[in-house]
Amino acid sequence: MSRIGEQGMAGMELKSGQWQSSQLKEYVARKTGMDELRGEMRLNEPMHRHTSWRAGGKARRYYIPADLNDLSVFLRQLPVDEPVHLIGLGSNLLVRDGGLSGTVIALHARLNELELLQYERSGGLIFAGAGVACAKVARFAAKHQLAGAEFLAGIPGTVGGALAMNAGCYGAETWDFVTQVKVINRAGEIMLRQPADYTVGYRSVQRKGLSEDSTQHEWFVGGFFQLKHGDESVSRQKIKELLTRRVESQPLNKPNAGSVFRNPPGDHAARLIEVCGMKGAVVGGAMVSTKHANFIINTGQASAADIESLIRRVQDCVETKTGIQLVPEVRIIGEAKSPGRLS
Ligand SMILES: Cc1cc2nc3c(=O)[nH]c(=O)nc-3n(C[C@H](O)[C@H](O)[C@H](O)COP(=O)(O)OP(=O)(O)OC[C@H]3O[C@@H](n4cnc5c(N)ncnc54)[C@H](O)[C@@H]3O)c2cc1C
Repeated sequence: MSRIGEQGMAGMELKSGQWQSSQLKEYVARKTGMDELRGEMRLNEPMHRHTSWRAGGKARRYYIPADLNDLSVFLRQLPVDEPVHLIGLGSNLLVRDGGLSGTVIALHARLNELELLQYERSGGLIFAGAGVACAKVARFAAKHQLAGAEFLAGIPGTVGGALAMNAGCYGAETWDFVTQVKVINRAGEIMLRQPADYTVGYRSVQRKGLSEDSTQHEWFVGGFFQLKHGDESVSRQKIKELLTRRVESQPLNKPNAGSVFRNPPGDHAARLIEVCGMKGAVVGGAMVSTKHANFIINTGQASAADIESLIRRVQDCVETKTGIQLVPEVRIIGEAKSPGRLS
């Protein structure tokens, strides 16, 4: 198996964003020997198309693997110093306006295996690939008389994103149901890991003993979820109620990324933001929602810098007035276009 040559991908003269995927793959294959790839490579891909905030700069390279094997081949052949950003549906992501210099790998709708592996009287075991939408898992579980996954119906991300974030709501969290995860590392090796291999907390999942060394990075390619026996109509009703609660309490008609900040222990970020009088605060096209103070909406033409400035402004205001430091739940990546503009 050949690796990319000494120049690495950064040295390849990949200039045009206009190329057809087939031409580009041919070019990449000639330069690098990555001729086994079956996925889709795009250059200078606007990330506002792939984030729920609909803002942000371009990814220098954007790869959509054909399947798990293709992802493995792709990772195996990337130069070790190439930064990799793996994304799902971008529903918890702010990409700065200067974009991303490395390679984005998009899994949504690719690793989309969804299977009932085992069913007994007491419950069942589901395998879901990292690219499956969370809502699909909720509906699949309900259809198979399994209870517990209803909360996933309102989370507009992928299984991979939910595993990475320990996504949760209304009293349930993703890792409450995980029995095993399937992961892939920087060398393209696929492994199974146990929940005990991770420190799992509120919107946080860390592999134990992981160093900062990027070669040790791993990503989720699927998860095994153990669910209790349930009743389809009860689960469907629960899903309906949870979705109604969301429509009533969240500004879903404007681009957003859900809750921007984690709730501090014993309190709610939304309450703190509201008491600080920040509801409705605006920076450029970004606004603190008047419906839910922990949401920042894109009113139309918000840049990522507008959104990030508003995040900082909210943090400053809450800290000044209450002494509490709000920690963002959203992940902020990439380069700022004009570094002087942000704190
Ligand atoms: C309207 C709205 C409501 C929301 N409500 C909730 C809620 O109730 N509860 C909640 O927890 N969240 C909520 N969110 C936030 C978001 O949907 C979740 O965090 C979700 O799990 C993110 O999944 P994603 O696929 O979009 O991940 P992305 O946004 O694409 O990525 C998020 C992070 O996960 C990493 N990641 C993604 N896939 C993988 C993978 N396969 N392996 C390793 N790392 C990966 C990315 O690198 C990034 O750091 C909401 C968002 C919106 C827009």
